[in-house]
Amino acid sequence: MTAIYGDLIDQETRCIDYHGPTDIVALKCFACQKYYPCFKCHNRHEDHPFEPYPQHLKKDKVVFCGACQKELTIEDYKGRAACPNCDHPFNPNCSRHYDYYFTDS
Ligand SMILES: [Zn+2]
Ligand SMILES: [Zn+2]
Ligand SMILES: [Zn+2]
Repeated sequence: MTAIYGDLIDQETRCIDYHGPTDIVALKCFACQKYYPCFKCHNRHEDHPFEPYPQHLKKDKVVFCGACQKELTIEDYKGRAACPNCDHPFNPNCSRHYDYYFTDS
């Protein structure tokens, strides 16, 4: 059972900030290694800003799909329109926020 923090409103990891039909992923902060549904939730609950996850750590599971409750790697998630496990569509707007969640360094 993976713990998801933040202000969740349902089992599929929607939160008070992002709760559209495709808002089903939680992301892990590199600093605290906790899953949050979004960086806003993280920053309300932690005393540090959300730290993006380094992309070279390809084996680390850093994305949690709320639809199938499985953890994904950055490669599993990035650039995909849907979850590779359960085919639930991801929010296409999330790609605009990649910089908040993943870093090249
Ligand atoms: Zn953190
Ligand atoms: Zn949130
Ligand atoms: Zn899934």
